[in-house]
Amino acid sequence: MPDPNGFLRYDRRLPARRPVPVRIMDWREVYPPAGEELIREQATRCMDCGIPFCHDGCPLGNRIPDWNDLVRTGGWDAAVESLHATNNFPEFTGRLCPAPCEAACVLGLGGQQPVTIKQVEVEIADAAVARGGLRPQPVPAPTGRSVAVVGSGPAGLAAAQQLARAGHAVTVYERDDALGGLLRYGIPDFKLEKRHIDRRLAQLAAEGVRFRTGVNVGVDVTAEELRAEHDAVLLACGALQGRDTPETPGRALRGVHQAMAHLVAANRVVAAAGEGRPALATLPDGTPIDAAGKHVVIIGGGDTAADCLGVAHRQGTAGVHQLDLYPEPPADRDAARDPWPTWPWVLRSYPAHEEGGERVFAVAVQEFVDDGTGQVRAVRIAEVTVEKVDGRRIVTALPGSEREIPADLVLLAIGFEGTEDQPLLAQFGVTRNGRGAVDARPDWQAGADGVFVAGDMHRGASLIVWAIAEGRAAAAAIHAYLGGVGTLPAPVDPARQPLAAR
Ligand SMILES: Cc1cc2nc3c(=O)[nH]c(=O)nc-3n(C[C@H](O)[C@H](O)[C@H](O)COP(=O)(O)OP(=O)(O)OC[C@H]3O[C@@H](n4cnc5c(N)ncnc54)[C@H](O)[C@@H]3O)c2cc1C
Ligand code: SF4
Repeated sequence: MPDPNGFLRYDRRLPARRPVPVRIMDWREVYPPAGEELIREQATRCMDCGIPFCHDGCPLGNRIPDWNDLVRTGGWDAAVESLHATNNFPEFTGRLCPAPCEAACVLGLGGQQPVTIKQVEVEIADAAVARGGLRPQPVPAPTGRSVAVVGSGPAGLAAAQQLARAGHAVTVYERDDALGGLLRYGIPDFKLEKRHIDRRLAQLAAEGVRFRTGVNVGVDVTAEELRAEHDAVLLACGALQGRDTPETPGRALRGVHQAMAHLVAANRVVAAAGEGRPALATLPDGTPIDAAGKHVVIIGGGDTAADCLGVAHRQGTAGVHQLDLYPEPPADRDAARDPWPTWPWVLRSYPAHEEGGERVFAVAVQEFVDDGTGQVRAVRIAEVTVEKVDGRRIVTALPGSEREIPADLVLLAIGFEGTEDQPLLAQFGVTRNGRGAVDARPDWQAGADGVFVAGDMHRGASLIVWAIAEGRAAAAAIHAYLGGVGTLPAPVDPARQPLAAR
């Protein structure tokens, strides 16, 4: 029986982040562990609601009140088991998820701060490692059926683990030189140290999953070859087509780049340093891309922009402006616009924002300004208003509001336009819809028979928690397609959307 007064006795508290001057000198994670006393106190705030709305906020259907109570009473082994029953990779979501479960927590309804669900999750996930490591699960006798998973992000890896644990022979194909999808070279180490990915990969390998890196499916191996070798194929290729702004004057100047180019280059340097190899942050063609000593302008307001900000600080930037088209959101939920338990539009500040830089809201870039040699020297911006008319976004510049911001390096973090247009699509008979995503039928198949799709490739650029949920659900569908015994858990269907006010 949970403590009914826990939330009255304890306020919401999180562990202190590492001090800014210390953490920007390295690439290690920003949060230290919470410590058992704090985390048991925080788990005590959970009311074990009759209708736990946190469940509805989480696409995985994590059994949040159950593991909160297990942590409260010190039942760590059972908490580890309960958490892994619904989530293959809680050490990823515990560190990185924006936590729609917390936005939906019933405590948020009564003017209280929600339970620190995400922090409890990461502490349980880390306890699993501390209490004996991520032991491989015993796998049943081989079914004799084999599955190819294309893409090694959280969607592909979750599906691979589920299918291997059902006895199928699974091979993950990844075109990059290392596994993990965006978690490997997209998301910086200060948010997720890569040892967490490597530890899980070792568990998957021990459960029988085979990995083939450096294989660009559709180019190095054709769909026909893959289908001849496997009984089913899951496409989990992400939504990596970065949005651009080709119409903005000066876009072709040197120093104006996609945000991902900056992040991948920086993360590769960190990875090389971890292996004792010196490396420089460069584009694939060898062009340097580094914020050291430079005035940086980041365009965009989401995860990608915040990650570029944290990287720029660690590289030794001379100063950063982060530009957002929209006005500054309110600090608290506007209940008329986003009633509880939906995801609210509020000002989200990431740890990178504590580290420096200036956020500028309600502005749009009018021009990337040339220094006379073809290199960007400034960004000319104007204050703007943004309206939605018939579903279209109308951006209006306020006359006389233009000004220049110095810029040696400009990073476009303005979103993604779906999955990349690549040879694999036509080979597997799948097409991109108007959003650049690939539609799935209710059984997660897309295109040719036996071809399935999941994660960002299906949903469009989204979140890790959705990628894992879709990977698990697609694995259940593949298991059924292969005539597997029993059923695997399917937390979502292809039409499932986040909680929204109707
Ligand atoms: C910079 C950044 C920061 C983010 N931060 C967060 C965060 O803090 N929290 C959060 O929840 N979400 C975050 N996200 C979103 C999250 O990373 C994605 O939603 C998630 O990784 C999607 O998983 P996925 O498995 O569908 O695809 P991905 O992780 O994109 O993986 C797709 C993989 O497919 C591979 N691939 C593509 N084509 C082929 C091919 N032809 N052959 C072989 N392999 C192929 C790619 O190389 C890639 O490795 C962030 C995204 C970005 C870009
Ligand atoms: S909604 Fe909040 S208080 Fe209720 S069970 Fe979930 S975490 Fe606990």
